[in-house]
Order: sequence, then C-alpha cells, then structure tokens
Amino acid sequence: MNILVLGGGGREHALAWAIKQNPKCDRLIVAPGNAGIAALAECAALDILDGGAVVDFAEANAVDFVVVGPEAPLAAGVADRLAEAGILVFGPSAAAARLEASKAFTKEICDAAGAPTAAWARFDSAGPARDYVMARGAPIVIKADGLAAGKGVVVAMDNDTALAAIDEMFDGAFGEAGAEVVIEEFMGGEEASFFLLCDGETVLPIGTAQDHKRAFDGDQGPNTGGMGAYSPAPVLTEAIAAQALDEIVRPTMAEMARRGTPYRGVLYAGLMIEQGRARLVEYNCRFGDPECQVLMMRLGAQALDLMLACAEGRLAGMRVDWADDHALTVVMAARGYPGAYDKGSIITGIDGLPKDSFHMTFHAGTAEDNGRLVSAGGRVLNVTARGSTLAEARDRAYGMVDRIDWPDGFCRRDIGWRAL
Ligand code: ATP
Repeated sequence: MNILVLGGGGREHALAWAIKQNPKCDRLIVAPGNAGIAALAECAALDILDGGAVVDFAEANAVDFVVVGPEAPLAAGVADRLAEAGILVFGPSAAAARLEASKAFTKEICDAAGAPTAAWARFDSAGPARDYVMARGAPIVIKADGLAAGKGVVVAMDNDTALAAIDEMFDGAFGEAGAEVVIEEFMGGEEASFFLLCDGETVLPIGTAQDHKRAFDGDQGPNTGGMGAYSPAPVLTEAIAAQALDEIVRPTMAEMARRGTPYRGVLYAGLMIEQGRARLVEYNCRFGDPECQVLMMRLGAQALDLMLACAEGRLAGMRVDWADDHALTVVMAARGYPGAYDKGSIITGIDGLPKDSFHMTFHAGTAEDNGRLVSAGGRVLNVTARGSTLAEARDRAYGMVDRIDWPDGFCRRDIGWRAL
C-alpha cells in the first residue's frame, strides 16, 4: 500500500523507519520529511495544516493510508478532511483532539468520567483567578487552556509566581490559547508516559516511557521539548498501568464515545505516580517526541499493523508482540537550545554508525547542504538503541553519540538515570 506520513521531526523519522520495515508498505512519502527521512522515503513539500491540500496530494498520489505525526494538523481537522474524502487515516478528529487542544475540556471529561486528576478551576479573567490562588495558596499550577507548545504551563512554587503567570496569560502572552486559564492543584510524584491505541471502542496499551524535559544533566536548566527518553518506564508497574487503564483511560474513552466524538488514534496519557497510584496530568493526541523513537525501536514493523487496525476499528483482535527489551534515545541539540542557537553547522561521523534493529540515528532538525549534513533546528539528532537491559541500550546509544563529530552540538549524558 501507499502510505503518507505527515511531519518532519525525529518522531516522524521513527514512524517512517518502522513502517518501511513492514512488507505491506510499497511506497512511503513523508511531508515535509527531513534529511534523514529522505534516505528511506520520498519527501514532499506540502502544507500539512491545510486539509484540502493534504486530501488533494493523497488522491493525486494514490495514498491508501495517512499517518499524522504532530498535533497541529489534528487540531486543524486534517484527519476529518481525509476521512470525509474516504482516505484511511491514523489520527483523531478535531473534536476528539480537543483532549490535547483544550485543558479545560480534558478536565471536564475527567470529571464526567470519574478519572483521578488534580483538582481544578477555570477562569476567563484575572481577578477571580488571582482570588483563587490567594485562597488556595502555592504550590499551584497555572495553565493556558489552549495549545502553547509546552510553554503554557507554570508550576508555581510561590504565590507571586502564580499571580505573575495569571497576569501574563491574560495579557495575551499565549494569544487565544490563554484567553481561558486553568488552575490546578499541584501533584507530587514521578511522571511517566503511557501510550495506548484506541479505535473508538477498544483500548490497547502499546508501551510506557519516561522523558527528560530539562536541558542539562541532573534535570537542571530550562525546559525543552525533551532531551531523551527510554522505554519501558519501570515506575509504571503492571499494577499501576492496570489502574490507569481502568480508572483513567477506559472511562475517558467511553465518555468521548458517549458524547458522539469517539477517539481514534494514539493516546498519550501523561501520568503522575504517587504512593502506587496514577493520576492524569494531561492527554496528548499523538506520539511524544522523543518517546515515539523508543516505542518504534521496540515495536518495529508491527507498528504499521497496529496503526492500521486502529484506523480500521479492528483493535479488539490485536495484541502487541513484546520482546523483553529496552530502548533509549539521546537527543543531540544545537548549543544554545532551547534559547537562541545557530543553524548550518556541519555534522560528521553519522555514516559509519550501525543502522539495524538495535541501533538507529533518527533525524529531527537536519538538512543537506552540498552533500554535507548540517544542523537545521534546535533538536537535531535522536541517537537510539535497543538492548536486553536498559544499561545495554544506554551504552549502545552513548557509544554512537561518541562517534558523532558535531562541535556545535550538546546532549545530556545521564539519560535513563531514574531507572538505572
Ligand atoms: P507538554 O507539551 O510539555 O506536555 P503541556 O503544555 O501540554 O506540556 P502539561 O503536560 O499539562 O502541559 O504540563 C507540563 C508539565 O507541567 C507536566 O509535564 C508536569 O511536569 C507539570 N505539571 C502539569 N500539571 C501539573 C500538576 N497539576 N501538578 C504538578 N505538575 C504539573
């Protein structure tokens, strides 16, 4: 079959890599793709936020199946347009993607479903929000309601920080996304990510992971899009995963179906685990980046069968074939990231690295310049390895990192520390 993947980061490189291994895949196109993806798929320039353009492209190229990587096209209704045109798509409708696009919506659904999460309140003006903070007191969490690329959340350890965040959001720091503000109880504990497929009815867990949001070793420095990840996450034990499935995910999915907006696609549940129980932090309606890289490394070719079954409503008959293995990815970023950084610095040493089911270097912000690989973004490479233990996966990944010559890049040296 002909398959189109939308997106151009490390997540989409990993998706394309897994899909390409499946004999069902004849032709693979990724839009827009990147320099690494170009080695295994056709890359196409396409405005992936424009549903009409995506449908036209899919029809012109006889595409049988579209896999949507990032959240923005989902929130923009690209999956709806594809479904209306009769093209099979992996990714929820815009109505279902509100689970990520609106934090207040998610909290309402959790309340209706009885899913454990932080106590919360919503505000559309600063005065009452400030009063609420003064009544509750810090630590407290202030969130812009809409999509703000991970920057619209302030975990305030004192009242002044919380009040400043409220003023900033209502002053328009996040535009429309901050027109409404959600204020939440602070939850302590350890975070982990739980990935599930849902076809509107059946829910199938496909793996757990933990990421590393801070820029520097020891979880120091500013927040980033993610500096590394590993799977599985030992903190998400079988018992806690079962509790999260029964108390959080299944009731949420049932509530979405009851409202006439069934959820079809991958659901990424961000959980906070404390005293052996999980509560929901947030839902995302797509794979995490870089968590997708470690999940794809572990799932391999069956990822396509699972995504197809999800899109076709056949999950009830599916199971995941787990190898008893571990995967770990190290993000190499441009010096200065997540602040200002330069683009265009030369990266060498990648060609000689192993590329097999145990080792893969997924590209994020890369480009080709006169036959040379250069940086073209903040997060640039995801050096990923699989092993029979997490320590083995880590040693393999850092063994590859050490062979990459990129003086303008940096990475954390402690990915996996929590589990190791
Ligand atoms: P991202 O895109 O990074 O996932 P987001 O904008 O979708 O972020 P959330 O995931 O809701 O926002 O929050 C970001 C981070 O803030 C969480 O990963 C968690 O570390 C912290 N956080 C959010 N809500 C709470 C809470 N109620 N208690 C404690 N920490 C929280």
